[in-house]
Amino acid sequence: MSAIELLAPAGNLEKAKTAIRYGANAVYIGGQSFSLRSRASNFDLDQIHELCEFAHEHQAQVHVTVNIIPHPSDFGGLEDYLQALDQAGIDAIISASPSIITRALKMETRHFEVHVSTQRSILNSEAVRFWTNLGVDRVVLGRETPMPAIEEICQQNINDIEAFIHGGMCISFSGRCVLSNHMTNRDANRGGCAQSCRWKYTLRDGEQSITDPERPFSMSSRDLQAADQIERMIHAGVTSVKIEGRMKSDYYLAVVVGAYRRLIDHIEQYGHADEAFLSTICAELSRAENRPTGPGFYHGLPDENVQLYRKHDETVTQEYIGLVLDAHPQNRPGMIQVQVKNHFEQGTPVELFGPHIAPYQAIIEKIFNEENEEITICNHPMEIVYLPWQGDVVAGSMIRKQRLES
Ligand code: SF4
Repeated sequence: MSAIELLAPAGNLEKAKTAIRYGANAVYIGGQSFSLRSRASNFDLDQIHELCEFAHEHQAQVHVTVNIIPHPSDFGGLEDYLQALDQAGIDAIISASPSIITRALKMETRHFEVHVSTQRSILNSEAVRFWTNLGVDRVVLGRETPMPAIEEICQQNINDIEAFIHGGMCISFSGRCVLSNHMTNRDANRGGCAQSCRWKYTLRDGEQSITDPERPFSMSSRDLQAADQIERMIHAGVTSVKIEGRMKSDYYLAVVVGAYRRLIDHIEQYGHADEAFLSTICAELSRAENRPTGPGFYHGLPDENVQLYRKHDETVTQEYIGLVLDAHPQNRPGMIQVQVKNHFEQGTPVELFGPHIAPYQAIIEKIFNEENEEITICNHPMEIVYLPWQGDVVAGSMIRKQRLES
């Protein structure tokens, strides 16, 4: 069984390093030119270079999205930018534009791969073959590809295949939506999507409103959660499984990447994940969810139960309470140094998880401030405190409140 790549998003350098520390084999990022998510905190060339060095030291890769659908006025500086990315040491670009892809493939010197973005809606082996014949190194399938079609595509062994496993879904076919353009003049295919599908709407039949004012209409989909498909994907020969969400937090990345890392390692070691193990992973993934999730198109065409036609609110949790900066501070033996993220106090039941450390439970027995005075409550985000700690812990581990039902 060949190792499958776990590919994670990153909106900045720290998030990219977190994803790699928690087990991502590759991260994808946006540069400051020619990339969607124009409002995300994209990377400049120095940051891309720094990330490439960090990633390669950790046997991980860096993929850069060059995925706008360019208008004629957008091409200025493209060749120079591709050269600069090459010199920065990236491993791949992800693009949906035939113009950008063709120019990348024609570069005289190129060390990175060229991947075709999900925005091309590639759903079958004919489409994979079309792009392969042009010379691309990998095809990212549309999120709308059902599992049997993925298996059929992989069986033909045409090219490396990447498939989404987690994160936001478009209510429209990915990359084929002009709702945001229409409503706000912000182009979804040039990085400006205003997520107009998730706004609250009033439906009218003629002059009469037919929407319950308490439950306005919205077109949001459930987010994708495909943990139960990983085993099939590994056995099918999918090259890479991808998590969506360059705007997501460090905590989200740590939870989601860490959970999928454990699942993939387990399947690759034992050939199978039983129901009990899978449900542990799904419970862990749910700790990072702020919207309801579903199987996307993997269980067949989504029905109304996979849509959120009348509900789009996101839940914000304050479960994440501390980041371990130092697991063995020299001046405080037996303690960990923690940066406070949200309120907690003495006696709070917590869980700690970390890079390659599965979550385990503990109680906050005592808290000390930087002056080594005992305190009872932490309610200042970014404050540095020290906690006596027993148990597996490394720098970069995260502490969160236990859920009542856990
Ligand atoms: S408006 Fe909604 S469906 Fe359209 S591109 Fe944006 S997120 Fe996707």
